[in-house]
Amino acid sequence: MPEQLKVRVAKDAGFCFGVRDAIQKARDVAEEHGKVYLLGDIVHNERVVNDLAQENVKVVDSLDDVVDAPVLFRAHGTVPDLWAEAGRKNLTIVDATCPLVHEIHNEIKKLNAEGRKLIIIGDHGHDEVVAIRAQVPDAVIIASIAEADALPRMKKAGVVSQSTQMIENVQEIIGILSMKIFDLRFVNTVCFPTRRNQGQIKEIAPISDVMIIVGSFTSANTKRLHEVSLSLNPRSYMVENANDIQESWFDTAESVGVSAGASSPDDLIEEVVEHLNNLHVESRV
Ligand code: SF4
Repeated sequence: MPEQLKVRVAKDAGFCFGVRDAIQKARDVAEEHGKVYLLGDIVHNERVVNDLAQENVKVVDSLDDVVDAPVLFRAHGTVPDLWAEAGRKNLTIVDATCPLVHEIHNEIKKLNAEGRKLIIIGDHGHDEVVAIRAQVPDAVIIASIAEADALPRMKKAGVVSQSTQMIENVQEIIGILSMKIFDLRFVNTVCFPTRRNQGQIKEIAPISDVMIIVGSFTSANTKRLHEVSLSLNPRSYMVENANDIQESWFDTAESVGVSAGASSPDDLIEEVVEHLNNLHVESRV
């Protein structure tokens, strides 16, 4: 007899408050001023970007393209040079930087004021990491244990991390740095929505036969949640939407857990959950 899968959805799957607030601000400003400009996509999710484009949220490459409406600075932070350029051009800036990203900027400046060498644990080239680094004159970015191993010994250093890093990766890197650095100060700037999402996956993945992580393949945050899930459940799959789900993944499965990256909108998660609720699998008996 075909049976319905038991579907467990992580309580806080999807948008973090920083992304949710930034999207709402973009909508509000576009409505009030007829349009709003963004330097790059608001999040790494095609559905969100396309929906906002319909609401006159315009993505541009340069502040030169911002002409007759405010520019919104995105949740993951903006380099000081762009703030200065927008000021010189007399543009109206709407600051949608997440307060927890502002906190990382403040922390790295404090570490710099203490005369420490500065280290950021994060992804090379990621916009959030680029903006954190730009807050101080000189900082090294390390993304991996191999890069931490390659660092020379130091007397005095300060470390922050990108908000969405995997907690285990950060802990391992700090373990290596503590062997090399005499006076090490680490400020744990992995944000609480990230920690909560990773924590909920750690609860659901071991007790579910299959795990589904919803998010764009271009989202580093979603890929990281998928890695957390895979480390606990080899039957973990990343999907962009319900169409990516393959029935063969559920052979002999009785339950499925669902979570999603911080850039995945609620409607996408609901579609996936509905699809899973409608999937009937062959019972083992
Ligand atoms: S992931 Fe964390 S720091 Fe980044 S926008 Fe969301 S809440 Fe803010």
